[in-house]
Amino acid sequence: MKLAVLTSGGDSAGMNAVVRAVVKAGILKGCETWIVREGYEGLVRGNADAEAPSSPELETILDVEIRDPSFIKNLRFGDGGLLRDGTGDNSGGRSLKGRYIVRVGWDDVRGWFAEGGTLIGTARSQAFRTPEGRLIAAYNLIKEGIDALAVCGGDGSLTGADLFRSEWPTLIQTLRSQDRITDEQVARHGHLRIVGLVGSIDNDMSMTDLTIGAPTAMHRICEAIDNIHSTAISHSRAFVLEVMGRHCGWLTLMGGVSSGADFIFIPERPPKADPWEDEMCQIITRHRAIGKRKTIVIVAEGAHDANLKPIRADYVKDVLTDRLGLDTRVTTLGHIQRGGRPCAWDRIWPTLQGLDAVDALLEATPDTPSYMIGMQENRVRRVPLVQAVKMTKDVAEAIKNRDFDKAMSLRDPEFRESLEGFIATSTLEGNPLLPPEKRIRVGIMHTGAPAGGMNAATRAAVRYCIRQGHKPLAISNGFKGLLDDNVYELSWLGVDNWTVRGGSELGTNRTLPDIDLGAVASKFQEHHIQALLVIGGFEAFHSVLILHEGRKYYPSFHIPMVHIPATISNNVPMTELSLGSDTSLNALVEACDSIKQSASASRNRVFVVETQGGMCGYIATMGALAVGASIVYTPEVGINLDILRDDVKWLKTRYGLDERGKSEGRVVIRNEKASNIYTTEVITKIFKEEGAPLFDARSASLGHTLQGGIPSPLDRTYGVRFALKSMAFIERHHEALRGLKFKARHAGPESAAVITLQSSTVKWVPVGEMVAHADMKNRRGKEQWWGGYKELVEKLVARPQLL
Ligand code: ATP
Repeated sequence: MKLAVLTSGGDSAGMNAVVRAVVKAGILKGCETWIVREGYEGLVRGNADAEAPSSPELETILDVEIRDPSFIKNLRFGDGGLLRDGTGDNSGGRSLKGRYIVRVGWDDVRGWFAEGGTLIGTARSQAFRTPEGRLIAAYNLIKEGIDALAVCGGDGSLTGADLFRSEWPTLIQTLRSQDRITDEQVARHGHLRIVGLVGSIDNDMSMTDLTIGAPTAMHRICEAIDNIHSTAISHSRAFVLEVMGRHCGWLTLMGGVSSGADFIFIPERPPKADPWEDEMCQIITRHRAIGKRKTIVIVAEGAHDANLKPIRADYVKDVLTDRLGLDTRVTTLGHIQRGGRPCAWDRIWPTLQGLDAVDALLEATPDTPSYMIGMQENRVRRVPLVQAVKMTKDVAEAIKNRDFDKAMSLRDPEFRESLEGFIATSTLEGNPLLPPEKRIRVGIMHTGAPAGGMNAATRAAVRYCIRQGHKPLAISNGFKGLLDDNVYELSWLGVDNWTVRGGSELGTNRTLPDIDLGAVASKFQEHHIQALLVIGGFEAFHSVLILHEGRKYYPSFHIPMVHIPATISNNVPMTELSLGSDTSLNALVEACDSIKQSASASRNRVFVVETQGGMCGYIATMGALAVGASIVYTPEVGINLDILRDDVKWLKTRYGLDERGKSEGRVVIRNEKASNIYTTEVITKIFKEEGAPLFDARSASLGHTLQGGIPSPLDRTYGVRFALKSMAFIERHHEALRGLKFKARHAGPESAAVITLQSSTVKWVPVGEMVAHADMKNRRGKEQWWGGYKELVEKLVARPQLL
């Protein structure tokens, strides 16, 4: 099969990762791979010369046997390399001028996913919207012998893709009747295989939880708001930010949740109050009255009131200036949101989606629908393209008809929950919502190492507590701090800026409560702690387990207890995501991008990068996928001499195949505990010794940098989500114990639990049950959902073909 990939519509981060994955997966499955420059416009323009470039002779200095010699013919065509600088031209005089459908090989897409936008170009093609344009596009594809097309773009691009496929038989007939193609071509190209991938920063496509590029856009938005925070506080100013999203408020909503904005405007849920100006001013006045020095309002570009009258950032600014006398500025983020390096998420998931897209193309028959590859429940899923496009259009239609409940119902449940979360954590209520007898004293503590999102979760819990009338008590410095009476009440304003802060604002400690369980119990009693929220890693789980088991002896532990997993290692059993692991992955990606650059500048250098992660290889494995590492070492698999021998052989083979003078740097990721014997230093020395003269080796240890500076948007938003769910859990279980005498209280085992994320669904796992799934010795889960990804890392460097 000859397959082509194109990017269309507005560019988004992650499109290059899709192209790279489609090309690599295509070659691995024995296809010829092509790219189409400039989206559908390139299909219409086609190639001035129909000659397909041939693969240049590979001059190698190999003295090893390659398992799959046929792979070599797909290694590079030179033409893909021309795309790299965005001009399609190079000083060697070779040019892509007049050629829009270009054959590419394995090495042509090397390192692509570290770059933003799309290297193969995108366009909004008027010609493709016309039947004549699509006829030429079909002709150009057939001329090159291409049978299958992967399209990465927004809903418009995918609508175009679906139309193209449905028209294909007619287009073929027309081309035959015009004698432009032969009977043989008709027979060979009777069916166009097409698959869609959603590249769009707005996250506006239905039937997929996240579109490609939306997470990176969130990073840009958060960076911008974080930067505005300091100037807003310094001058006590108000800022109105306009962010992208014509029919979708996802960027605005998530921006609001993760930056702690005061008020947001989204198209799906316009303000209910009429006039909304009064409601906004009341809320902001209340915030200012308690001493808040900054005001942030975020407006989606498609925001409007309940009568569909547009709400513009400039107008919001006038309201804040005229009515509240605030020194207000408008910042329109515009195209900044599209740009920049893709975040870890926009490298890993587009890669997985690209791989699945090739499978979908290979499996397609004339009777199967065209699929859209999306994400559901934290997994790659295929859904019928037409259905997804229709549902997306239904949201816009519902908004147009002012049926906002329907528009909200068509968004995923997480969107609705996030909106409730935003209101609960951003709006200071006049009076507590719960009557005095239902109010709880909630102890909040961090344990273990710091992790991004811990503070965001704490802030959300504190804000929720205050809104309800509960008392949020900081237990500073973990159980050690409790024994030292480091307990104090937290305030609504005091936690205001915590979403953006890394580290642990409460102070954290690894001490477990069994250091003196009796003393811990008496401190619970002394401070009247009626519920406990512990945010941290494996120690936090272990601590809650110890307290749960201590209930046999100490009545003060008969209270609801929750553990929110927060650890960069992501080693808490049964949960797919711990707070901090995304921040850490992004820190790893950033460091490895720089290291790779340095390694490439020295042409033939291998960097062995050591990561944290304890006895869990999550960060190393996902990091390897996100940076395109050549090899990954994890504690789960370990390292031995046979493995190392193969690795050296693979590196030699690969460097031997590099074009002379164009060798790139390669990264090997090693988890700190992958082996006690084969340390990073030893491996580096072995590579250096064995690799000469083909390659050299260096090492780098990322250490505590992986605990991250500023938390990633994902860790912030999940922090808020987990905290609010935890508070609801605490209220529910407290209610069952309310009114009972101290000694008569009996909290069931289900009231001491870990909040877990399983296929994007929040599930409660009692700590007592969790033990069966935990490898207590190695401090990790017994099963790991990402276990198979090490193999994928190897597949993406063609290890099975070369070794
Ligand atoms: P974004 O979300 O960034 O706007 P998009 O894919 O929705 O991306 P559009 O401009 O709507 O962007 O579509 C991109 C291209 O897809 C169009 O320029 C056109 O070539 C093609 N296209 C869109 N809709 C159709 C259609 N109904 N029929 C044929 N082609 C279409």
